Amino acid sequence: MIMAIKGIYKRFPPEDVFTGWAGEAMKAANRCSECGDCEARCPFGLPIRETIKANLEWWETLGSQ
Ligand code: SF4
Repeated sequence: MIMAIKGIYKRFPPEDVFTGWAGEAMKAANRCSECGDCEARCPFGLPIRETIKANLEWWETLGSQ
């Protein structure tokens, strides 16, 4: 969900994205320790840590406006 939050933002109301189910998932992104385990297991080689950080920053900035 954190990887797809920008698409979710386009399809769901802001209350879902910033305080609802998606908002709760985004808050959990703060617990990422950047261990890299998910990237080692990702079959597509996605830059998961980088995307989590970028999407979290985007979400926090947009949500504070
Ligand atoms: S880098 Fe991946 S596996 Fe490690 S804490 Fe963050 S999301 Fe979880």
